[in-house]
Amino acid sequence: MKSEFTGQRILVTGAGKGIGRAIARHLAAAGARIVAVSRTAADLATLGREITCETHVADLSDPSAVAALVGTMGDIDHLVNNAGISIPQTFLDCTAEAFDRTMAVNVRAVLSVSQAVVRRWIVRGHRGAIVNLSSQASQAALPAHAVYCASKGALDALTRVMALELGAHGIRVNAVNPTVTLTPMAEMAWGDPAKSGPMLARIPLGRFARPWEVAAVVEFLLGPSAAMITGAALPVDGGFLAT
Ligand code: NAP
Repeated sequence: MKSEFTGQRILVTGAGKGIGRAIARHLAAAGARIVAVSRTAADLATLGREITCETHVADLSDPSAVAALVGTMGDIDHLVNNAGISIPQTFLDCTAEAFDRTMAVNVRAVLSVSQAVVRRWIVRGHRGAIVNLSSQASQAALPAHAVYCASKGALDALTRVMALELGAHGIRVNAVNPTVTLTPMAEMAWGDPAKSGPMLARIPLGRFARPWEVAAVVEFLLGPSAAMITGAALPVDGGFLAT
């Protein structure tokens, strides 16, 4: 069956694990041709056995690697900036090294990947869409997540400026802001009720998100149903940010 994504080439960063992998699988099921980038070759190899996709191993925190990589890719129709890291530290314990590593992936990689992709869109006159994976942490203080919160706040701000400047080219840019999402790693981290209880108590729907629930919102924001939406930071948080 044909869908609006049939044959569309969608670049998904951090597609090796977790939410990015779910997004890649979800969009592939909707007919897209996935271009998957991640750091660990073994993850991309197993993804390549689950869906038909082009894979690239790269560390996106290196801007020169990004420019070279995107230059070899062929035409991309839409972009999902999903790759991200979290180094949990309190404000007082936060190190300069953790700050630099987090910002390099969660903010600077989004900038450099998007610049490389969008420059080519403007030359082609292509009106693509971009979705950036932000977090509820961009708008709410989470304990022991000082730099992570700062990085996602910066990402929401970058998303708004991209939307402002790229609107004239017909390019839409939005963020999705999930709550805790039960990737395999998050299930381990949040499996302990002593840890999950206080967070669940702040979520009106009383549960964490599932990766496919985030992927479905990414699909919506990339597609024609969201044609009038740009510059938004859309919570997928069971109501956490409403409280
Ligand atoms: P994850 O399970 O740790 O997966 C992240 C993926 O990104 C991995 O495949 C990782 O590859 C890749 N990656 C990380 N740094 C990279 C780099 N420098 N270059 C290329 N690839 C890189 O994380 P996740 O939980 O799915 O999170 C995905 C996104 O959603 C992140 O932006 C995160 O901040 C956001 N988010 C997550 C949650 C949650 O509860 N899970 C909630 C809100 C927002 P390697 O493993 O090989 O390094």
